[in-house]
Amino acid sequence: MVVRIDRNTIRKNPRAGSRSTTVFGNQRISFSVEGGIPDFLRKNPLVEIMTEWDNGCDGLFINDTPIKELIELKEPYKWKYDVEKDTQTFYHEPLAEYIYEYENPLIECGNCKQLIAVDDIEYDIDDDGNSLQECPKCNSYWTFDVLEYEKIEDVLKEQNKL
Ligand SMILES: [Zn+2]
Repeated sequence: MVVRIDRNTIRKNPRAGSRSTTVFGNQRISFSVEGGIPDFLRKNPLVEIMTEWDNGCDGLFINDTPIKELIELKEPYKWKYDVEKDTQTFYHEPLAEYIYEYENPLIECGNCKQLIAVDDIEYDIDDDGNSLQECPKCNSYWTFDVLEYEKIEDVLKEQNKL
């Protein structure tokens, strides 16, 4: 069975050719206070004091939101905050020119004869590291027709985009 590319999902990849991807992880807003440690900081559950020193402290806002009392903090205290974002950059082969999704046709299991959506077919790895195709209903191995995934190049040719 040929699993077709859903023609409606084909679109130009805005990042075609790009060789790296940066993802943003957690954001943290930290703060530091000088001039002492105001009492409300110790009591507020939305704040975590990380380091204390003689004349102030460093801490984090639990919900990434500066609390009202700090925003309104007056002399002799001073405070400032800092937004830190975790980022991670992955390097990879140049990204493809088109993005697309496959259709999800039903296919009959040769053993239990039930119709299974292609996306629901399961894959196991046996003790030797071989991939095993498994029916999610009867748990038999290799009971489906060979799945052949349509190639984007062929679809583009058909649509005269190559
Ligand atoms: Zn089955």
